[in-house]
Amino acid sequence: MDLDKRSQRYEALNLIRQPVWIFDIDRRRMHWANDAALHVWNAPTLQALCERDLGSDMSESVARRLAQYQSDFISHGAVFNDQWTLYPDGRPVSLNVRLSPHRLDDGRMGMFNEASSAAVEGPESLRSVEALLHTAVMISLYGQDGRPLYRNPAARTSVRVSEERLEDRIVDSESYAALIGDVTSTGMATQTLAVNTAQGERWHEISARRCRDAVTGQNAILVSEADVSAIKHAEARAQYLALRDPLTGLPNRTQVMQTFNETTQRIHRAGLEAALMFIDLDNFKDVNDTLGHAAGDALLVEVARRLRHAVESAELVARLGGDEFLILIVSKDIHREVNRMRDQLMRIVAEPAMIHGYEVRITPSMGVSLYPQDGVDIETLLRNADLAMYTAKDCGRNGLAFYSTGMSDAVRSRKTMETELRHALERDEIQVYYQPIVDVANGRIVGAEALARWQHPQRGMVPPDVFIPISESTGLIRQIGALVFSRAAHQQAAWHRAGHSLRVSVNLSARQLHQAEFLPEMTRALEDAGSDARRMQVEITESMLLDNDQTLLELLRAIEAMGVSIALDDFGTGYSNLGYLQRFPIKTLKIDKSFIQSIDANRPLAEMIVSMCKLMRLSVVAEGVETAEQLAWVQAHDIELCQGYLFSKALPSAEFTSMLAAQPFENA
Ligand code: C2E
Ligand code: CA
Ligand code: CA
Repeated sequence: MDLDKRSQRYEALNLIRQPVWIFDIDRRRMHWANDAALHVWNAPTLQALCERDLGSDMSESVARRLAQYQSDFISHGAVFNDQWTLYPDGRPVSLNVRLSPHRLDDGRMGMFNEASSAAVEGPESLRSVEALLHTAVMISLYGQDGRPLYRNPAARTSVRVSEERLEDRIVDSESYAALIGDVTSTGMATQTLAVNTAQGERWHEISARRCRDAVTGQNAILVSEADVSAIKHAEARAQYLALRDPLTGLPNRTQVMQTFNETTQRIHRAGLEAALMFIDLDNFKDVNDTLGHAAGDALLVEVARRLRHAVESAELVARLGGDEFLILIVSKDIHREVNRMRDQLMRIVAEPAMIHGYEVRITPSMGVSLYPQDGVDIETLLRNADLAMYTAKDCGRNGLAFYSTGMSDAVRSRKTMETELRHALERDEIQVYYQPIVDVANGRIVGAEALARWQHPQRGMVPPDVFIPISESTGLIRQIGALVFSRAAHQQAAWHRAGHSLRVSVNLSARQLHQAEFLPEMTRALEDAGSDARRMQVEITESMLLDNDQTLLELLRAIEAMGVSIALDDFGTGYSNLGYLQRFPIKTLKIDKSFIQSIDANRPLAEMIVSMCKLMRLSVVAEGVETAEQLAWVQAHDIELCQGYLFSKALPSAEFTSMLAAQPFENA
C-alpha cells in the first residue's frame, strides 16, 4: 500500500535517533514518521499515527501558520527553526523543530520536520514561546548588518519579501534614521510609522530594542510591530476635522490658536513682526436673506478660495465662522505688508462672483491688530482686530483700520446697545418720525416717509443708521419693522380723518420679507388701523431684488394686490439696474441723496434715469434736496416729488401735523 511505499522511500531515516516526520499540510495528517517520532507522538504504529486527524482540534492560528509555512516553502524554499509544542496525549511536549520544504509523492508541498528536544525550560518560557508564535504582534530580529535573523509568524505574514531589511520596510527614510538613532543612543525607541507590508502601506507602532542575538552573540535589534492603522486613520481624520472649517476646508479658530503659538516663537528668534487681519464681508446677510443660505454658503466657499490663492505669502488663512475670515501675516515691515495685502484683498474680494446664476458683488471690511504691540496673546489680538474691523465698518465699510486703544469703548457700547435694543421695544423707546414728501410743482406736502428713532434714556436720540443695522443683525428688525408699519398705518388713518390725504411710506429690511408672517401681519396692521392700503407704500432697496426668484416676485405682487405700492429706495447707490423696474411691480423710484447732491458728476446718468422713469410712467422722488440749486435741477427735469432738509427734516407726528395744518391748501 501507499504507506509501505513511503516506508521504503524514507527507510534510511529510521536509522537516526532524532525524531523526523513528514507532514501533509493540505490533509492535516502525518505523511510519514520515523520510529523516534512515533515515540514523541505517542503512537503505537505508523499507521495509527497516519490515521489521526490532526486537523480536528487544530486552532485557527496553527492552521494559518501552517498555510504560511507552505506558501513560504513554495515561494522561496524557506527553512524555519521554530519551537513547537505538541500535545500527543494531552501533555505538552516542547521541541525545537527545523521545518523545511518537502515534496510529497504526488508533488504537493509537504513539510519535513526534524526535531530536537528543547532545552529544559520552565512553563513560563514555554508559554512565552506559544505567545510569540500566535500573537498578532509582529516580532523580528535584525542583525547588525540589517538582515533579518528571525521573524515570528505574524511578521512573516506581513513582510513583502522574506529578506526585507527594516530600512526597506519603513516608508520614510528619515523616520527610519530617527528610530535607529534613538535605539543607538538610548537602547530603545517607540514610534508610529508608515510601513510597507504585503498588505500595502499600513501604520505600525514600532518598538525597537537593542539586544544580542542568542545564536551568534552579536548585536541585534529586536523589533515588535503592532498594526495601528485603524486608530491612526480615525485619529488623523478627527484631528483634521478638529482643525478645519467643514464648509470651506480652511483652518478654523482652533488651528489659528495653534499656528499663532508656533509662529510667535519663531518670530522672537527671527526679529519679525506679526499681524492678525480680521476680515468681515459687508452686507453678507443680504445675500443670505435674498438668495438663501445655500447661496450664502457658496459665496463663502468662493471667497475662501480667493483668499487662499491670493495671499500665498500669509502664514495662515482661516475662517473664524459666519462671514469672518482671518489672515495671519509675518514680515519684517509689517505695516507695508498689511497695506499691500489690503489692496490685493480689496481687489480680489470685490470681483463679481457668479453664485447660483446670479452675479454677486461683495466687499470686505478689515481690522488689523499687531503683535506684540496690540497684544501678546491670541485672544487679545483677535478681540482687538475685531474691534478695528468694526471701526472700518463704521467708516463706511470696504476698508481697513488698524487697532488703536480707545476703540474698545466704542465697540463695547455697540455690544451694550444690542442688549439695550431688546429692551427698547418693551419700554416703548422706539418712535416714528415723519419727513414730508413734497410736490415739486406747488410745494405742498403729499406724503410722508416714516423713519424710526430710538429715544434712549441715557444716550438721547439714537439715529437709525446706528440701530437699524444692529437690529438687522440680531433679528429685532422684524419687531421694529412691524411696529413702524403699524404706527405709520395708524398715522395715515388719523391724518385722513383730519382731512389730509397723504401717502405714508415705510422702509422694509430684507429680513422682514423672508418671514412667513410678514403678509398676514401687514394685513392685520392695516385693518387694525382702519387705514387705506392705497395710501400706504413700502420702500425696498435694490439689493433685496438680487433674488429674482419666484417667491419674492409673488410676495411683491401680493403686496401690490393689497393696494400697497412699492418704491425702490436709494436708487443710484447700488447696481442701478433699470431691469428691475420692469421685472418687479415698482411704482416709485427714489433717487438717492448722494446722486442729487453731486448732480454735476452724475448728470448724464441721472438724466437718463429720470427719462427712463418717465417712459415707464414711474413716479420719481428726489431725496436729500438741501439747496435751492438742487431744487432747480429737480424742477428742470420735471421730477414730480422731492424730500429733503430744504423743506423739512423728519418730525414727530405732532409737529408734522401742525405743519400740515399751516399749509395754505389742503390736498383732496
Ligand atoms: P432712507 O430710507 O434713505 O431715509 C432717508 C434718510 O435721509 C433719513 O435719515 C432722512 O432723515 C435723511 N434725509 C432726508 N432729507 C435729507 C437731506 O436733505 N439731507 C440729508 N443729508 N439727509 C436727508 P434717517 O432718518 O437717519 O434714516 C436713515 C436710514 O435708516 C434710512 O434711510 C433707512 O434706510 C433706515 N431706516 C429708518 N427708519 C427705518 C425703518 O423703520 N425700517 C427700516 N428698515 N429702515 C429704516
Ligand atoms: Ca427710505
Ligand atoms: Ca433713501
